[in-house]
Order: sequence, then structure tokens, then C-alpha cells
Amino acid sequence: PIFKDEDMRSPIICILGHVDTGKTKLLDKIRATNVQTGEAGGITQQIGASFFPRDCIEKNIARLPEDLRVGCKPPGLLIIDTPGHESFTNLRSRGASLCDLAILVIDITAKDLEQQAAESIDILRKSNVPFVIALNKIDLIGNREWRVLGPDASSKLSLESQAPHVQHHFHKNWQWLQGKITEKKGLNMEYYWKLLEAKQAPVEKSKQKKSKGKKGKAETPDQAIDDITSADSYIHVVPTSAISGEGIPDILMMLMRLSQEQMRGRLEYEDEIAATVLEVKRIEGLGVTIDVVLTNGTLHEGDTIVVAGMNGPIVSTIRGLLTPQPLKELRVKSDYVHHKAVKAAMGVKVLAEGMDHAVAGASLYVARNPAEVETYKREAMEEVDGAMQAKESEGVYVMASTLGSLEALMAFLADEKVPVMGTNLGTVHKIDVTKASIMRERGHPEYAMILAFDVEVAADAMLEAERLGVKIFTAPIIYHLTEHFKAHVAEQHE
Ligand code: GDP
Ligand code: MG
Repeated sequence: PIFKDEDMRSPIICILGHVDTGKTKLLDKIRATNVQTGEAGGITQQIGASFFPRDCIEKNIARLPEDLRVGCKPPGLLIIDTPGHESFTNLRSRGASLCDLAILVIDITAKDLEQQAAESIDILRKSNVPFVIALNKIDLIGNREWRVLGPDASSKLSLESQAPHVQHHFHKNWQWLQGKITEKKGLNMEYYWKLLEAKQAPVEKSKQKKSKGKKGKAETPDQAIDDITSADSYIHVVPTSAISGEGIPDILMMLMRLSQEQMRGRLEYEDEIAATVLEVKRIEGLGVTIDVVLTNGTLHEGDTIVVAGMNGPIVSTIRGLLTPQPLKELRVKSDYVHHKAVKAAMGVKVLAEGMDHAVAGASLYVARNPAEVETYKREAMEEVDGAMQAKESEGVYVMASTLGSLEALMAFLADEKVPVMGTNLGTVHKIDVTKASIMRERGHPEYAMILAFDVEVAADAMLEAERLGVKIFTAPIIYHLTEHFKAHVAEQHE
């Protein structure tokens, strides 16, 4: 669909990857870089996200060599703050992923594709989210002989300026890691500048043909990516250092490029609301609030909203739309700025009565009339039932923190052929243990188990589990849960 650039909304981006690869540090560095380069206003802190306006990004891109620069069409980039796998699985919007784009952070000094990175790749593919790889910690290459070209410099220029043996070390490390990733996940990856060159290659070649005898550019793209169609199927790899900031202009440029070149159609601003509840939080003085990522449309004070609840649909009215105070105005007493309306894409705290049992990860709907209220009540609960449904009469009991993570977990368990008998959201309580213990009575003690992802276990639930012989496995990584399951079943069969 053709639409005007003014109608483009900011893409929503999340950062994921294995623990300790530098996700938090990288986001902090992008923020710091933009605070430095941005004028008054600069980045804005939102609920659960940071907004980087177009002019900040443009200043970063200006640090790149001219042939790599690109103009910026979206109003900015909205980067989800809580980096990491936990949050990513929570991010969904009407069954699809909430993120438009992702940054997968990989540590260049790693020896293999790490588990959470592998899991992230699976989730990104399943939800069809394009991503770039930030090949982080380049400053540790060559036994720390890496010379920082300059703070927040282009990592392409920085790499080219390193001593030959440091460059060699860099390429060797990446080649090794790339081999591992390709072997395990079948991904095609290449340094982003090579891919960009490859896309221009047809033009270059025709130029070369005309001026016979003249040598081509010294750095010709690889054979394998020598045409534009195959270049499109490659993942762009951007070397970065979250310490020196090298590579930050490069990665912001790549995110802009992907937004406007590959996803234009998906980034059109529309009036119809698309919003997801990220978290349900009790705030002193405000009561129970919901943190929402607004992907599309505009929310207004006074709007009638419909949200899925643990005990049925919740219908309420927006009493307030809040974002954090800008950093420079910390003297102001209130913690939040109140808005009459907020326009997508944006992270916002919504004040409304009756949100105590709202389901994290569920969609938020705005109803304009009583008929719509009824429709959305049905839709909201269908979404929850769809995710919570467990079909087997014999199987394990599964719990997760949000609708999105439950869905992700159920998908993995289905792939691993783990039968699921029941599901629930939130903290593991006694009642969940009782339900799981039914498997003992049905003659399947090996299934008397709760697989709990990213949730707490209440003390009385633990006691009850011991009493009834129910195993509770909790883990922050989905793979670990399926491993626990397999080990336990094997043990029971011995
Ligand atoms: P996360 O678990 O992925 O969020 O990782 P963190 O951002 O917490 O970083 C983990 C550790 O790696 C911290 O000690 C960081 O200081 C360090 N670190 C992160 N990025 C870099 C980098 O680019 N270079 C170096 N040398 N250290 C880094
Ligand atoms: Mg972190």
C-alpha cells in the first residue's frame, strides 16, 4: 500500500540475546549517545520504552561514511526498555508480535551460539520479525589491542583502521561463530556493509563493463551475495561496542533502513487502536495501573476500554494517561506527566478502575459504542482462551507470567511433543498444585509436574507440592523447562 511518509509511525524495536552479551549496556549507550547529540527534548522516556526522535538518529547517521548514510522517514525509533528474552516473549499484539524489528545481541568473544540466542532466533522467525545482529564487545578483540577510533564512531571505519592482525583476529572470531550459528540455525549472515554493497553491485558491474580494463573496487562483495535477491535473505551483522559506542551510528542506520525499505507497509499510522498490556502494576497513590504499548491509533482520556481479565473481560474508562517526567524536570513533585491523548507508537501508563486482574500480555481494545463493547469482550476472552487452552487429558501443568510467554512456551512444548493438561498465568498457588496432582490419581505420576516460566512459587504451594508429590520446575529459559521435563520422565520410567 502506498502512503505518505508523514503517515509513517515509529517502528517498535526490542533487544534480545543471551545473558551478559551486553543488551542493557548497549541500550544505555544508545541512550547516552543520543542525550549527548540530541538538542533540548532529545530522547523521551516512556513507560517501558525509550523514544529516539528522528533528528537524534540523523545526527548519529551523519558520523557514517557518505555511501552508508540514509535519510530517515519514520518520526523516530521506539526501543523497548526491558531488554532480554523474558520481555520479548511477552510482546505480542493481537496474536502477532508486538515488535516490528529486533536487535539480536551476540558477543563476538563467545565460542558458540548460546542457548538464549538460539531461542531468540526461533521466536523471531516464528513471529516473522526482521532483525539485525549486533556483534558486540568488539573492543575485546585481539587481546585488547583494539584501538577505539573515536567514541560512537562507525564500526566499519573503526574496523578498517585496526592493525592487520587485529582485523584478522576479528574476522576469524566471527567466521567461527558464524559457522556455529549457520550449522545450528541455518541463518545466512554477512557484515552489513557487504550486503549494502551487494545491493548496489548490479550498478557497479554495469559501470565496470563500460569502462573496460579498469579494475573494480578493491573490496568487492562475496560471490555468494553477488546479487540483490540473495542479499535480501541475509541478516545484517553490525559490529558494536557498548563501551566505546563504536557501531551505534551503524546500527541506528540499519534499523532505519530496514524500517523504510523492508517494512514500509507495516509501519503506516492507522486510527484503529492496536495496544498491548505489558504489565499490571500497583503504584502507590494510583492503585492498580496497566503499562501499555500503543502500536497504532490514539488513546484519549475518557475512552471506554476492554481488557481480558483472569476472571472474565474487564470494561473500564481511561482516567489518566501517564508518561514519566522528562529527566531534566526532576524537581517537579509528580512522577508523571498527564496527557489528554497519546498517539502511536508510544509506551504509556493507563489509569483505569478495576484493573487488578487484567491479563499481562493481552490486547487492549477501545470501544466506541455498546455493541463494540460486547464484540471486544468476546474477542478479548477468545484471545486468552486460545492461549490457555490445553488439549490433552494426560500431561503436565504449565504456568507463565503473561499471555505472550505462555503462548511461546506452549508452542515450544508442542514442538518438543510435551503433552499439556492444564495452564494458568501468574504465581504458582496451591490450587495449581492440586490440579497438577490429578495426574497421580490418573496413573501418570511422571506428569504430576508444573513447568513454570518466569513466575514465582507461593510458599504454601511448595509445601503442598511436597505433600502431594508434585514436581515444580521453574526456569527463566524455555529450553531448560523441556530439559527438566525429559529428565524427569526418563527418571520415572527407570
Ligand atoms: P545483558 O545481560 O545482555 O543485559 O548484559 P549487560 O549489558 O549487563 O553486560 C554484561 C557485561 O558485559 C557487563 O559487565 C558489561 O559492562 C559488559 N559489556 C557489555 N557490552 C560490552 C562491550 O561492548 N564491551 C565490553 N568490553 N564489555 C561489555
Ligand atoms: Mg540486562
